[in-house]
Amino acid sequence: MESTDKPRVGWIGTGIMGAAMCGHLMAAGHAATVFTRTRSRAEPLLQRGAAWAETPAAVAAAADVVFTMVGYPADVRAVVLGATGVLAGARAGTILVDMSTSEPSLAREIDAAARARGVAALDAPVSGGDVGAREARLSIMVGGDADTFARVRPLLALMGKTIVLQGPAGSGQHTKMVNQILVASSMIGVCEGLLYARRAGLDVPTVLASVAGGAAGSWSLANYVPRIERGDLEPGFMIEHFVKDMKIALAESRRMGLTLPGLDLAERLYARLVDAGHGRKGIQALLLALEQLGDGADLGPRLT
Ligand code: NAP
Repeated sequence: MESTDKPRVGWIGTGIMGAAMCGHLMAAGHAATVFTRTRSRAEPLLQRGAAWAETPAAVAAAADVVFTMVGYPADVRAVVLGATGVLAGARAGTILVDMSTSEPSLAREIDAAARARGVAALDAPVSGGDVGAREARLSIMVGGDADTFARVRPLLALMGKTIVLQGPAGSGQHTKMVNQILVASSMIGVCEGLLYARRAGLDVPTVLASVAGGAAGSWSLANYVPRIERGDLEPGFMIEHFVKDMKIALAESRRMGLTLPGLDLAERLYARLVDAGHGRKGIQALLLALEQLGDGADLGPRLT
């Protein structure tokens, strides 16, 4: 990376989160080369001057720091380790930052494969939602070595407000799993509270005036209840991606000998929504699953 010039960035995955995040880097004067599966989703960035590359490898060849923000672990594997992936095109000295929510074990695998080519890798998943991405207020949870973190931090600071190195490769993804475990049970609380308030004949905004600023207040309550109230079930954060995250967290928990009943219940409720065709709605659509339970619904055996 040139210390005198602004590093050239590469961006792979310009969806809800990635388009906004890459936009912040461009607004700060970084030249950007982008690739994403559906080219139309990169169009706003291309109109602002980003260059298009035909493969992740070609992105890497044109950049000092490459960011990936795709969907699932299989997508991360394809765009990083695949035949035309980032590592196939990156020069020694390039830095790769995967900001997707993915598996800790895959982050460690990428770290090892990157090192073998003289590339430094960080896992750096985020929290803060579409709003946090647009407003550059994300929390960024980083795994990797301290030197690489220090070099990339100024770029991360253009996208987020809370940027913490959690430990070696995979630690960012583990921290994001903690985040998702917290969100999973929190969303059940938010939607149950809302259903109860409605059924009790209360005025929801007036209820929020009492509870949102107290011990029950949360980001999920403040951001999702207003969306639900105006009938907006669009993502935000897609149910399919949340189920992916909860499955990773459940697998890691099992591997560590943990039983987490709150996470287990949330995953089962959200999986019902995927089965019912709601996988591409926002996670606030949990309300639909709870509404359908009715009186005395069977949620299967209790975990103890
Ligand atoms: P999204 O809107 O689906 O964006 C992902 C983008 O990556 C899409 O444009 C997708 O292409 C592209 N992509 C996926 N696989 C690809 C591949 N193999 N090669 C090239 N491009 C590929 O999802 P998002 O909401 O931005 O989420 C991205 C990641 O951030 C996910 O891991 C998610 O769990 C995580 N996350 C999301 C939020 C949130 O609130 N949205 C918050 C925190 C973390 P297509 O357009 O063709 O689908």
